[in-house]
Amino acid sequence: MKLNEILRKNILSLQPYSCARDEFKGEASVYLDANESPFNNDVNRYPDPLQLKLKKRISELKNVPVDNIFLGNGSDEAIDLLYRAFCEPNVDNVVAMEPSYGMYKVSAAINDIDYRKVLLNEKFDIDAYKLIDASNIHTKIIWLCSPNNPTGNKLSRAEIIKTLQWFRGIVVVDEAYIDFSAEDSLLSSLSEYTNLVVLQTLSKAWGQAAIRLGMAFASNEIIDVLNKIKYPYNINILTQRHALKVLMDTETLNKHVQIILAERNTLCKALSKIDMVKEIYKTDANFVLVRVADANMLYNWLVSSSIIVRNRSNIALCEGCLRITVGTAEDNSILLQALSQFSKVLK
Ligand SMILES: *Cc1c(COP(=O)(O)O)cnc(C)c1O
Repeated sequence: MKLNEILRKNILSLQPYSCARDEFKGEASVYLDANESPFNNDVNRYPDPLQLKLKKRISELKNVPVDNIFLGNGSDEAIDLLYRAFCEPNVDNVVAMEPSYGMYKVSAAINDIDYRKVLLNEKFDIDAYKLIDASNIHTKIIWLCSPNNPTGNKLSRAEIIKTLQWFRGIVVVDEAYIDFSAEDSLLSSLSEYTNLVVLQTLSKAWGQAAIRLGMAFASNEIIDVLNKIKYPYNINILTQRHALKVLMDTETLNKHVQIILAERNTLCKALSKIDMVKEIYKTDANFVLVRVADANMLYNWLVSSSIIVRNRSNIALCEGCLRITVGTAEDNSILLQALSQFSKVLK
C-alpha cells in the first residue's frame, strides 16, 4: 500500500499552518514570538504542539517510538482526522463491523462518507472475507474494535491479521478496552503492517475520561499526516501535565484494573442467578452485555431506581440487551438489589 495513493489529494498537497512553536523549537530566555501574555501564571504560554514530553512517557509505557504516536482530544479526534485525511466526501467509503462504537458512523456522516456495515457473526466476531467483500476501490478505511463495544468480546486475532494483509487501505483497530483484556495489544505488530492504526485512550482503564486524551499509533507516514491536519495546539497544557502525572502511576492503573476484573467476575456470577437474565455474553472489557426478558421495561425500572445502564436493545444483534458498566462493589450490589426487587414486582 502506497500512502500517497490513498490520501486525499488536497491533504497530500496541503501546506500546514506553521505556529510559533513549530518555527522555533528549544529553549530560549526571552519569548516574544507568539503574542502571548508575558505575565507568568503557569498557563500563559502556548503548549507544545507535538506533546513531546508526554509522548516520551507513552513511548516507554507502550514500547512504541515517539514518531509512531499521535495524541488527540479523545480518540474521537483521531477518528475524525482519519476520515478527513483519507476519505473524499461523496466519493469514498468505509467498511465497519456492526454493532460497534457509534462514533465511526457519526463521523462518517459528518464527513459525508458512505458507511458500509458488515454484521458480526453469531459469536460477535468478524470474518475477514466478508469485510473485504463489502469493500470496493473507493474503500479507504476498515473500522474494527477489539474488545468490541457494546458486545464486550475481543475479535479473532487471525481474522484481524487477514484483514490487514488483504486490504489495500487503512485498518483501524480500536483498543479502548485493551487493558481489561487478556489479549495482547496489536501495538507489537505496528512495524509489520504499514496500514495498521491502533487507537487507545486514557478514558477507560486509566480513569481519565474528563481530560480528553486519545492515542493513535501507526507508521510515521500516517502519524505525520495526522499531525499536519490537526489543530496546532489540540492538547491543552492542563491535560498534558495531568496526563504525564497519571501515566507515571502504573501501580494505580494495575490495582484498579484488578479490582474491576474481580468485580466483573462477581457481577456476572450474580447476574447468572437471576431469572430474567437470559444470556450473559463473554466480556474482555469493563462492561458486560446481558440479554434480559424485557429490556425496555427493566431499563425504565432501573432509571426509576436512579440506576443508569445502557439500553442497547434497539441495536442489530443486541435485541433485548442492556450494557452494564462494572462499577465499584457498592454500585454493583445496588444494581443487583434493584434487579431482585424487579423480579419480585413481576411475580
Ligand atoms: C469509550 C470508547 C472510546 C474512547 O473515546 P475517547 O474519545 O478517547 O474518550 C473509544 N472507542 C471506543 C470503542 C470506546 O468505547
